[in-house]
Amino acid sequence: MAKYQEQELRIYNSLSGKKEKFIPINEGHVGMYVCGPTVYSNVHLGNCRTFMSFDMIFRYLKHLDYKVRYVRNITDAGHLEDDADEGEDKIAKKARLEQIEPMEVVQRYTVDFHNILQKFNFLPPSIEPTATGHIIEQIEIIKEILENGYAYEINGSVYFDVVKFNETHEYGKLSGRKLEDMISNTRELTAQDEKRNPQDFALWKKAEPQHIMRWPSPWGDGFPGWHLECTAMSTKYLGETFDIHGGGMDLKFPHHECEIAQSEASHGNSPVKYWLHANMLTMNGKKMAKSTGNNILPNEIFSGENDILSKPFAPSVVRFFMMQAHYTSILDLSNEALLASEKGYHRLMDALSLIDGLTSSNTSGIDMPAWRQKCYDAMNDDFNTPVLIAVLFEGVKFINLIKEGKAQVSETDLKILSETMNQFVFDVLGLESTTQLTASSDKLGGVVALLIQLRNEARANKDFATSDKIRDELADMGIQLMDGKEGTTFSIT
Ligand SMILES: [Zn+2]
Repeated sequence: MAKYQEQELRIYNSLSGKKEKFIPINEGHVGMYVCGPTVYSNVHLGNCRTFMSFDMIFRYLKHLDYKVRYVRNITDAGHLEDDADEGEDKIAKKARLEQIEPMEVVQRYTVDFHNILQKFNFLPPSIEPTATGHIIEQIEIIKEILENGYAYEINGSVYFDVVKFNETHEYGKLSGRKLEDMISNTRELTAQDEKRNPQDFALWKKAEPQHIMRWPSPWGDGFPGWHLECTAMSTKYLGETFDIHGGGMDLKFPHHECEIAQSEASHGNSPVKYWLHANMLTMNGKKMAKSTGNNILPNEIFSGENDILSKPFAPSVVRFFMMQAHYTSILDLSNEALLASEKGYHRLMDALSLIDGLTSSNTSGIDMPAWRQKCYDAMNDDFNTPVLIAVLFEGVKFINLIKEGKAQVSETDLKILSETMNQFVFDVLGLESTTQLTASSDKLGGVVALLIQLRNEARANKDFATSDKIRDELADMGIQLMDGKEGTTFSIT
């Protein structure tokens, strides 16, 4: 029997505003789409939190024995600086500033994105399609929307007619907005505007002569609007209607609202059964933003090279920290919060390292199946990881009681304890056991200690090429050096 048949998963659906029983369209299978990054800069920690929430959801669905097709795209064209279809393409702008090809920008930051996600122990999605790889599919959808009368062409651009669409459909149903309110709150169109209404959005934009990312279309050379790629790729790989669509809260409007409109206007079906939105990460109580300096990159946390934190933190500690909040709640990052998480993480790992050495008895003083069900109940309640972690700490308590001879469990119960702890900590939460080695603990530790010493000497001689080389090549092997107040330590992931 598959685990999903024994558990009742309930998910908060942003579309209905309610927790609903999860019933996939095809029994045993789940199709899930998550809006991926626009690859024009290093991935932010806030974005990492969003993707990590969906990685955890992907992991739990797999744990429940669902066959999951998880599609997370890469936006490598069409994302303009301004949501109102104005401004430069984010990638083209970066390419111009750095005097490199747009695809070099895309390559560089796609590699960075993957590296960071790998450090955080993400599972790769089933398909990771790119916008530029699906131009033909996007053009086909525009043709359908035009044929159905919900779009218009003007000067080589095509716009979605929101007002026309809203006559027969409900634009704004996901974000809870009414078109009339949006209209009364927006500026009047000026004579230069091509749009019929300010709410209309671009499906295809004509490329000006200087625009380098361009493709031929029935309307002339141009590029697709940002909202369109997700409709094209989700429909292609998951079908006209699929189970789960996820993304950050900030994408609900206009991006996801436009995705719904595009699907309904092209093939007539609502695209998604369950809409899930992950909340944001703040730092020291304030919104994270590059412009204010209230910002930190993942690598700056791992290496300790920043002014905000007192020491470096391993990726698994940061992951554990993020899992301690529900994915729909705002989470605040601070030095204190990370220090507390690090303590909790080590307590969990220490207990896990004791499990194999525990001995069973003939009787059982703990109702282990009931405790295991509490782990499932937590996750079945809209992936409630903070409650799950509290239940796992009950498991830590059991482990310590058994170790000290203060509680007895049967062989079967001990097996349940061990299996459940390992499955939820490693498979579902996606934590890794980071082994902190001291220099004397084994030969590898000795070798790394020697390299740390050579790196310190190089740094003292201002030979930063050598010191960086030692750090980076060790990092490539999965050995993370962390510079702190008491010298350099390392972790092996
Ligand atoms: Zn999207």
